[in-house]
Amino acid sequence: MAKADIALIGLAVMGQNLIMNMNDHGFVVCAYNRTVSKVHDFLQNEAKGSKVIGAESLEDMVSKLKKPRRIILLVKAGQAVDDFIDKLVPLLEPGDIIIDGGNSEYRDTTRRCKSLQEKGLLFVGSGVSGGEEGARYGPSLMPGGHKEAWPHIKDIFQSIAAKVGTGEPCCDWVGDEGAGHFVKMVHNGIEYGDMQLICEAYHLMKDVLGMDHDEMAQAFDSWNKTELDSFLIEITANILKYRDSDGTHLLPKIRDSAGQKGTGKWTAISALEYGTPVTLIGEAVFARCLSSLKDERVEASRSLSGPRGVKFSGDKAVFLEDIRKALYASKIISYAQGFMLLRQAAKEFSWTLNYGAIALMWRGGCIIRSVFLGKIKEAFDRDSELQNLLLDTFFSNAVQDCQESWRRTVSTGVQHGIPLPCFTTALSFYDGYRHDMLPANLLQAQRDYFGAHTYELLSNPGHFIHTNWTGHG
Ligand code: NAP
Repeated sequence: MAKADIALIGLAVMGQNLIMNMNDHGFVVCAYNRTVSKVHDFLQNEAKGSKVIGAESLEDMVSKLKKPRRIILLVKAGQAVDDFIDKLVPLLEPGDIIIDGGNSEYRDTTRRCKSLQEKGLLFVGSGVSGGEEGARYGPSLMPGGHKEAWPHIKDIFQSIAAKVGTGEPCCDWVGDEGAGHFVKMVHNGIEYGDMQLICEAYHLMKDVLGMDHDEMAQAFDSWNKTELDSFLIEITANILKYRDSDGTHLLPKIRDSAGQKGTGKWTAISALEYGTPVTLIGEAVFARCLSSLKDERVEASRSLSGPRGVKFSGDKAVFLEDIRKALYASKIISYAQGFMLLRQAAKEFSWTLNYGAIALMWRGGCIIRSVFLGKIKEAFDRDSELQNLLLDTFFSNAVQDCQESWRRTVSTGVQHGIPLPCFTTALSFYDGYRHDMLPANLLQAQRDYFGAHTYELLSNPGHFIHTNWTGHG
């Protein structure tokens, strides 16, 4: 007899934890995995004593589900998702729901939505963030796709999601097609930016102020009691404190060469594709690329000159506060850019996105969770049509308050030869965005000069003309 509320396919780290989370919230979950022996292992170990049931095959799994059937895929993104969908389609009935909770590319989700719609099935592509811990105790969930599926999964999703404030779930319906996975992708891009900004602050503390690990840990701990209160600042303090088995700090022994799985890169590519200046995430991705050229950098460090070990002559406490404010202002820019990209994608794909709800989804459960996201939610509550976060009074005042410190931080870093790709790009973006006149008039003239691309006059917008620049009047 059908008794499971939902099935989950994919018993790796995310799947197992999400199943136990659903079980804790009173849902009966049927577990399945391509390698079926993992189902047995799971039932005998992690799921022992729970209400979780297992399936020996997809047919067995489908027969154990209440209707409409709800099936979550938490498998490796890409071909594995398509393979499972192909196998499930003949076993399902119209109105059944397939949910992909992996890190799928949003265009794949849009494609799958279209193809399953033709077969009468409902498809949801849901961002899941928070890693193993989030999946187990409350992730941030970003579902999108066929909205008809939402009433059937809302209760489960909102029950298992992280909660903030007075119990508000970090999960709401995002939008049509691949909107959920797009929002998850931008979340990951912002995560890249937040991490790089913290790394730049660490670099300044270490190499300009000469702070030791305990001093830096203390600084991050105290920053975590300010506007910067967030998971990433908290773990940074813990990482700085961490000592190896030999009693020395572990952090300086770690190779300074960062890897990436691709979602930050996808965000930067989307930004280029939709012509949105998401410069900070782009720089964060490139900073990882530059870091990975370790051997080349070691070689270059022997021959390329520049400031190194310049003694800091200012007031250390004042500059430390400058760095904190520079980090806060840069973070505001990064989120403003991330929301610009969401807005542009919504326009491109005719998605109706609720930006305040997205900020709330990221407020808890995920890697970028922070008090700051609550402020973003408030800004969109004040004005759901807000064009840009920087135009909200709270954020424009915050940037104004940080501005002098931000400029001092960037110029001091530059004079000391410290690479600050994200601090500097954030400031350049801010200065660009607040200028009514940029030097693009010259750029337009250059384009017209060599390529007859034409240009508009300020006095006659919308009317394009060409000048023979080498002629004489
Ligand atoms: P994973 O390592 O990405 O994938 C392992 C699972 O995928 C296993 O169940 C495996 O089955 C199955 N699988 C792999 N290739 C397959 C194929 N060709 N056909 C059928 N099944 C296949 O697992 P994960 O780390 O738990 O992540 C699951 C999904 O969540 C991924 O999309 C990931 O990007 C996303 N995600 C992960 C995290 C995280 O912190 N790990 C956070 C958010 C989102 P077998 O056991 O048979 O090999």
